Amino acid sequence: MTGERCIVIYQGGLKSVFKGLSKIFHAGIEVLLLESSAESGRHIVDSTRKRTRTDIKSSLNAYAKRFAQTGMGRLEIFELKPEEASMTIRVWNNFFAEIQDKESTYCTYFAGLFSGIYERLLRASPKVKETKCIGHGDPYCEFHLTLKTSSKL
Ligand SMILES: [Zn+2]
Repeated sequence: MTGERCIVIYQGGLKSVFKGLSKIFHAGIEVLLLESSAESGRHIVDSTRKRTRTDIKSSLNAYAKRFAQTGMGRLEIFELKPEEASMTIRVWNNFFAEIQDKESTYCTYFAGLFSGIYERLLRASPKVKETKCIGHGDPYCEFHLTLKTSSKL
């Protein structure tokens, strides 16, 4: 998607990485994961938008297609209201929901990723909430993003 070199990461390997990070950061791993994936989301938009210059919906659909190809999950842009700065994205077969540690999943990765993408596409800070989760028995994970404050970036 960004034209960069890629590697394949298997689920068990990533789980071990998360476990190792949890030992050091404990609950702080959530913030760590959220921040790092948000940065990744910003990077994706920054490195693809220069070339494409498409609208928000087309950009989201293009990212969704690529994320599905990488095996991270099938994204469904369930609702998009750019005028209200709100979007709802469903993730089916969420790779990160399947990596479970006790009761929790690592869906924060997607929360951060979408937050970074939102930030760049809408030029505003979002409030992200996971409203449904495969880890809690729902058929998909659902993330709802709305405007955090009235301040624009
Ligand atoms: Zn989830």
